[in-house]
Amino acid sequence: MIVVIKPNTTAEQTKDVVDKITSMGYGVNVSQGAERLIIGVLGVREDKDMLAAQLRSFECVDRVVSISRSFKFVSREGTQAKTVVRVNGDVHIGDSAVHVIAGPCTVEGRDMLLDTARFVKSRGATMLRGGAYKPSTSPYSFQGMGKEGLQILAEARADCGLPIVTEVMDPRDVGLVSEFADVLQIGARNMQNFNLLKEVAKAHKPVMLKRGLSATVEEWLLAAEYIYAGGNHEVILCERGIRTFETATRNTLDLSAVPLLALLTHLPVIVDPSHGTGKWELVTPMACAAIAAGADGIMIEVHPRPADALKDGFESLNFEKYAKMMEAVRPIAAAMSRPIASDSRPAVQVTSG
Ligand code: PEP
Ligand code: MN
Repeated sequence: MIVVIKPNTTAEQTKDVVDKITSMGYGVNVSQGAERLIIGVLGVREDKDMLAAQLRSFECVDRVVSISRSFKFVSREGTQAKTVVRVNGDVHIGDSAVHVIAGPCTVEGRDMLLDTARFVKSRGATMLRGGAYKPSTSPYSFQGMGKEGLQILAEARADCGLPIVTEVMDPRDVGLVSEFADVLQIGARNMQNFNLLKEVAKAHKPVMLKRGLSATVEEWLLAAEYIYAGGNHEVILCERGIRTFETATRNTLDLSAVPLLALLTHLPVIVDPSHGTGKWELVTPMACAAIAAGADGIMIEVHPRPADALKDGFESLNFEKYAKMMEAVRPIAAAMSRPIASDSRPAVQVTSG
């Protein structure tokens, strides 16, 4: 951390700042430049953010610049090796392959989920998605099937062998959802539900953390830090678009976040072009773009009959369109020297939750 002192500051004022820093146990390195005096704060301790805030209250302090990252455990600075999240032992997100997670927005019933699971698996998905607890903007929209939805997801896993990712919205449900899910999804609306983050940090299941509706990359990584520092190191980040002034798409899919995150964090990153665009027509092009940007996977909403979907039919691919999407992404993955995961390994076999 560096403290820049304003011009025309007296030696006494500077001494007050130095005394404050040393009184909190930090070292100082004072450097007089041609125009400004700069104080380097030496040492790493948990109260550094507090010290920075307190130093800003000194009249002679122009600014306080942080050098190290506010997120420590998930930062690339500490751990150089990329994290590979092992889902149910067999699906390794963050390895050299691109993973495809597919399924309906919402579990609407047994038949539609089983049909979808079988189809997406036959066309290269390595994980099944589907919400049982749905975060609905309107209290009048479908809220999901709850526990019954979880049971149907487990049945689909037993039937087709795909591990399942499903959302948990309430800290009180983490235990129950963990009994069924292979990956716990934290939705965009809950990215900063800190009690929920602390609860999934204690769960023994990987977590997929979606980017908040208007979260900066730093806020998102700090949310991941809650889970990681709380003891759960199996965290997957999911870019799903952010809210901007643009209304032509449901969200603005921030694909620049993908290579940026590769610089900032060792955690794997996947992209959800369905919620990221809100238009089924844009899902395939943005799935291709996500893979070209270096994503470790894509998450796609697929519904047997989007026109009858209870939720998000407008951004869901039907089976035929999903199959075409898979054909479109394959050469992009190949160009990135990353095979589609299902092409590079034997069929997934999952038996338990
Ligand atoms: C979802 O994936 O079903 C979902 C609700 O997404 P988000 O939290 O990104 O809106
Ligand atoms: Mn949805």
